[in-house]
Amino acid sequence: MPTVPREGKNVTSRALATALVLCCLGVAACGGAPDDGTAGPAASGPATGPADPGPSSPAGSPDSSGSDSGSPDPGAESSAPPAEEDTGSPADETTATSDSTVPAPAGSSAVKPLSGKIVVIDPGHNGHNYRNPSAINRQVDVLTHKKACDTTGTATNDGYAEAAFTWDVSRQLKAILESRGATVKLTRTSNTGVGPCITERAAIGNRARADAAISVHADGAGAADHGFHVIMPKKINGPVDPVVDDSERLGRAVRKAFRSGTGLPYSTYIGRNAMSFRNDLGGLNLSTVPKVFIECGNMRNAAEARKFRNAEFRKRIALSLANGVQDYLT
Ligand SMILES: [Zn+2]
Repeated sequence: MPTVPREGKNVTSRALATALVLCCLGVAACGGAPDDGTAGPAASGPATGPADPGPSSPAGSPDSSGSDSGSPDPGAESSAPPAEEDTGSPADETTATSDSTVPAPAGSSAVKPLSGKIVVIDPGHNGHNYRNPSAINRQVDVLTHKKACDTTGTATNDGYAEAAFTWDVSRQLKAILESRGATVKLTRTSNTGVGPCITERAAIGNRARADAAISVHADGAGAADHGFHVIMPKKINGPVDPVVDDSERLGRAVRKAFRSGTGLPYSTYIGRNAMSFRNDLGGLNLSTVPKVFIECGNMRNAAEARKFRNAEFRKRIALSLANGVQDYLT
């Protein structure tokens, strides 16, 4: 996603390169416009499969990659056969679920730190978005322009889909926040569906009157690019304006916790010190509650892709995000 507007800098020439990037955000959920189509099929989470964890997951398909990068042609996406996408790893879910449900460990009978707080987590994209291009490419109004309802997201070169990654991290994040007393809602209920549109993802946070909302993504930039960044809204003379300042505070808290918790560096290719402010993302423009996006890193970078495939590392990511959200809320 990133690519798009980079605050100020002109990226035009890099169109192609960009395409890659977009995957995530851009593409996806949020935002970036042009790219959307790109990420395509690939993403699907074959990798994620039930097995989930292993760094070594079976690979997905090469196609995936191709598609992403690809680009501009939306059409492409649809075509590519996703690998197996059934990512939804039941197993994991269960876990997550259980966690959340589990009564806090003994001793925590006291008031939990996040009691009374509402958090909405938006796991970027959806595992089957590539199956319904007409729905995903439908143009929606994000106030500053019109763009696709959602995108397929990016994937690692060996086929681990961004949608699968964001789903796993988000479920774990939900469980952690709930264990700390928060009421948490996800913007999608599985990784085997389509959508919802970015407009609805924002609306879910608004309706919940969330104290904080976070959209989880991973980027698809050039192979040499690496590091994470946080995206925050800008004033657009619209509904997000009143929460721009709080969103920045949330973003700074998330950046700090993510860096210390994961050890990943600030992005080498977007934003300044891992902070990027944008006005082209529907998920931010339409939010009336404090909200940020986190691009956890670059799935097209071999070293980061390896980490994202690792279940233990994903757990660290979830914990780091939980700590950042908690720091903001308390
Ligand atoms: Zn994304």
